[in-house]
Amino acid sequence: MSDYLVKALAYDGTVRAYAIRSTAMVQEAANRHETWRTVTAALGRALSAGTMMGAMLKGDEKLTIKIEGNGPASPIVIDANARGEARGYVSNAQVDPERKASGKLNVSEAVGTAGSLSVVKDLGMRDNFTGSVPLVSGEIAEDFTYYFATSEQTPSSVGLGVVVGKDEVVEGAGGFIIQLMPGASDETIEKIEKNLGNMKPISQLVQEGLTPEEILETILGDGKVKVIDQMGVLFQCRCSRERISNAIMSLDKTEIIAMIEEDGGAETTCHFCNKTYNFSKEDLQSIMEEKDQQ
Ligand code: ZN
Repeated sequence: MSDYLVKALAYDGTVRAYAIRSTAMVQEAANRHETWRTVTAALGRALSAGTMMGAMLKGDEKLTIKIEGNGPASPIVIDANARGEARGYVSNAQVDPERKASGKLNVSEAVGTAGSLSVVKDLGMRDNFTGSVPLVSGEIAEDFTYYFATSEQTPSSVGLGVVVGKDEVVEGAGGFIIQLMPGASDETIEKIEKNLGNMKPISQLVQEGLTPEEILETILGDGKVKVIDQMGVLFQCRCSRERISNAIMSLDKTEIIAMIEEDGGAETTCHFCNKTYNFSKEDLQSIMEEKDQQ
């Protein structure tokens, strides 16, 4: 069962909907960052939402989401594009708050209940679009719901679920974003609200293995969902040795000399995917020679 997302319309196009299965990508993020379960859930929820938001973009557009709460795992940063690729990290992966009385992972404890959620969209124009809202709960889905309503003036319902089992294995991850377009009737809104109120928690649906299409049918009603696009999704970081090398080359010469003479090399780790790149003295010297030739 590979990860994918669907974009759909319902009720004569007055409802726009997205749903995702992100189990493998969340597991990949957890493996790379060695997150503990509550942080896996926090990062996984944000990654799932970010990937769906990426799917709202076109072509080479991309976005960055930053959740800066007052909890120990924050900030959480997610990058996503329109091709179903996303990457992300947390500032502290090894946080282990106690579960809630209900037995659920205490995500808001890890993220924090006060702070902000901001979204920067690079739409290929001179200025980026930026929206920022205060955190509502730190549980992430509610925070995105508030973001859409406030910053994008789009009434939305966001559900995100990550189930972490024994040995930190991600047993299921996924979610949905339902958005009301202008012209949505009261009847449509009532029906969706009723379905949302009656459905099982999203974490249970993803654990049961419901497909994104089935999740949308649960919320919007059988036979109401018109899928308009489907795409594979994955955790993908485009960092490379060459990019890091270019970054080093753009540094001041004295800084590169300091790396050679004082540190005897350079080691740098990509925040997003936790991959480490090592540059020996000789590597740095050849970078400097190349810089001199520019
Ligand atoms: Zn990377």
